[in-house]
Amino acid sequence: MNERDSEKIESILQENGYEKADIKEADIVIVNSCAVREKSEKKIFSEIGRIRNLNKKAKFISMGCVAQIFPQKLSKISDVVLGTASIYEFKNFFNKDFKGIFVSKEMTESDYIFGHLKSPTAYIDIIYGCDNFCTYCVVPYTRLREVSRSYNSIIQEIKNAVEIGAKEVILLGQNVNSYNFDGVNFIGLLEMVNKIAGVKRIRFVTSHPKDFSEDLAKTILDLDKVCEHLHLPLQSGSDRILKLMRRKYNFKEFAQKIEYFRKYNPKGSITSDIIVGFPRETKEDFKQTLMALEEIQFDEIYSFKYSNRPFAKAALMPDQISEEEKKERLSIVQDLQSKISEQINKRYLGSIQEVLIESKAKAFNQVQARTRTNKIVNIDNSKLNLNEGNLVFAKITKLNKHSFNGEICTN
Ligand code: SF4
Repeated sequence: MNERDSEKIESILQENGYEKADIKEADIVIVNSCAVREKSEKKIFSEIGRIRNLNKKAKFISMGCVAQIFPQKLSKISDVVLGTASIYEFKNFFNKDFKGIFVSKEMTESDYIFGHLKSPTAYIDIIYGCDNFCTYCVVPYTRLREVSRSYNSIIQEIKNAVEIGAKEVILLGQNVNSYNFDGVNFIGLLEMVNKIAGVKRIRFVTSHPKDFSEDLAKTILDLDKVCEHLHLPLQSGSDRILKLMRRKYNFKEFAQKIEYFRKYNPKGSITSDIIVGFPRETKEDFKQTLMALEEIQFDEIYSFKYSNRPFAKAALMPDQISEEEKKERLSIVQDLQSKISEQINKRYLGSIQEVLIESKAKAFNQVQARTRTNKIVNIDNSKLNLNEGNLVFAKITKLNKHSFNGEICTN
């Protein structure tokens, strides 16, 4: 969502005749910020200091999640502070002095259609905010209450993105499954997007396990453009910890949702998020997380050490886990997941996958592509002429640590 917010700002600047410049010579410097973990929040303050030293003349804009929750603090080191719900305000800056705090307590102009930069993949906000208040999470304070965008503005924005080359759309929200506008739910919205000419693939992120249904699992199968990849954050394998986190499901219920997905999408992939070292997480609780990883067999997980976040209830809980213990648990989780991922990914070797060319790869003469199941495939382009946005079939030839190598199938 932060990436999309940055893109919105960049498109407004482009519309007003601005171009990207070297940071030392820029007239305006904008720093977008993330508050989801303590480390990223702290970094923003040191980063602003560092950049201001490089360019003392530029107008300085701080935006994003840290701006939303700490506007006063950021205003001491920025000319403008722009909250997550006030991006629309940025359109009006060009007639004014760049000065002030623009932080709304509710989403302004949720239906406004911002521009997109040319890319094969377009991020499309469908729902803003979150009403779940998981006890470790700052997002309900940084992104505020849930607001679904009108389907008309979503569809128009997708059409605009397709017109400038988007082939794939990623529908964004903290909890996309809660989408509800004028009687249209998330499944209804997927059906509408599936009909848009020029859209070749549809992805969505993030689903909350409590709202993921068998109907949605079947819709992924039924709608040809919806990719067979589900990101479903588990967070912990222990029911006791899930309750303390206020996740509103237990492990058995979570496993049931996974079964729904696999019943209709047996070749699909599933990724998840895991937090280790939540307050009061015992060794037994942690063991249950490891057992959950073994049982579910996620393709990949994004794993984090718990950190106290402002306003979040868990920061006040007793029995906080030491940094050392959290670090050790994280490394155990990551080691286990690496083995599971490797086993799952080996099954891809020799298979033929539909891939979307996204960009140049790091290696010379290679392009980076993505399967419908969200796996990265690097393809040698030295004798081919593959371009961003091409949708082709590739044979998977080699397994790397976090990606594959592939060869284009010519017949
Ligand atoms: S569902 Fe929970 S973890 Fe996700 S954004 Fe909302 S409060 Fe945070």
